[in-house]
Amino acid sequence: MNAQACLPVLPGSLPRRRTRQARVVWGDNVVTIGGDAPVRVQSMTNTDTVDAVGTAIQIKELARAGSEIVRITVNTPEAAAAVPAIRDQLDRMGIDVPLVGDFHYNGHKLLQDHPACAQALSKYRINPGNVGQGAKRDTQFAQMIEMACRHGKPVRIGVNWGSLDQDLLARIMDENGQRAEPWPAQSVMIEALITSAIDSARRAEEIGLPGDQIILSCKVSQVQELIAVYRELARRCDYPLHLGLTEAGMGSKGIVASTAALSVLLQEGIGDTIRISLTPEPGASRDKEVHVAQEILQTMGLRNFTPMVIACPGCGRTTSTVFQELAASIQSYLRAQMPVWKTEYPGVEEMDVAVMGCIVNGPGESKHANIGISLPGSGESPAAPVFVDGVKVKTLRGERIAEEFQAMVDEYVRTHYGKGSTAANVGR
Ligand code: SF4
Repeated sequence: MNAQACLPVLPGSLPRRRTRQARVVWGDNVVTIGGDAPVRVQSMTNTDTVDAVGTAIQIKELARAGSEIVRITVNTPEAAAAVPAIRDQLDRMGIDVPLVGDFHYNGHKLLQDHPACAQALSKYRINPGNVGQGAKRDTQFAQMIEMACRHGKPVRIGVNWGSLDQDLLARIMDENGQRAEPWPAQSVMIEALITSAIDSARRAEEIGLPGDQIILSCKVSQVQELIAVYRELARRCDYPLHLGLTEAGMGSKGIVASTAALSVLLQEGIGDTIRISLTPEPGASRDKEVHVAQEILQTMGLRNFTPMVIACPGCGRTTSTVFQELAASIQSYLRAQMPVWKTEYPGVEEMDVAVMGCIVNGPGESKHANIGISLPGSGESPAAPVFVDGVKVKTLRGERIAEEFQAMVDEYVRTHYGKGSTAANVGR
């Protein structure tokens, strides 16, 4: 064996890219983005902002699911007028989450005409491709930045390939045409996106917005393009970066595409806040995008939000659905408890719970978890050993295995986390 083959293998992502740190403030609360802050999870409502009650309820759901920042559309005078009422309702409900206003076309006017809206929002999202055409573009962009300066708000300069500044794109295409060897169209588009974001940020700083009040995003809908855009953006500036694959789509496609793109970037230390742009199924909860964002960060080992269930996929050795039902019910039970557990039992979000289908990997995987159960596979005796901190403590039998195991998980949480903790391995 040569010496190189003996080097220790160390799993883990690259160190986070160094960035400035933006502060998103509301009342006495602050959420930081970039710098030494953890990668933040954010989301966006799909209610009509004019419906202040409906919007506040959805924001509450997103915040309860774990969204640390929530963006709302501010597209009309009526929507702008509703924003202070939404903030009031959230404050009355004790929902501590900052609101970001998403502005297009008329943001300069809405912010000027509705100072209470400008003040109630904690951050503005400005799309430089949608602030106006020709000479108006610069004036209206400057007006929005001046409003951010006046109200002391950070800004996300959010470029999107679907609404790229056409004048800028035309200029970069002209420059490309003069190259001895012109770049492919895809590279020209990427260059235009990055230039739009960075030039707009520099312009905002010239107008007076502090550089640490600027966050950048450059969203595209193709995974490989998104990775290429953000790698280059990260190389060229030190603003915090908001990651997201735009128009990711529905169901598993949207989840897989977002995960593929964001995981590569996060692994390279790129990204300070993420949003998963999933199209919900009709009538489905909006929370899914928050859960997916959390699961990406948690499975990559970057943050912990909720206890993880380690479950085997099942195979021909499992003859009943008991194992699948138990894995699903424990997963939803743990998530449902988190709003209370996270304050009463700090550190519980780091707990691993194993639910395994048979004796092949069941005991081994269960021993590695904080608490784990190995259900009987086909042909095995109808007994389910439970392991706590690597030690077999009990064998469950009969019809009530699910309830009894859940009670053991509750007991584990009560005794290992928070004030009632008696164990030495809190937050292991
Ligand atoms: S632990 Fe058992 S049931 Fe689960 S996948 Fe492995 S062999 Fe199949």
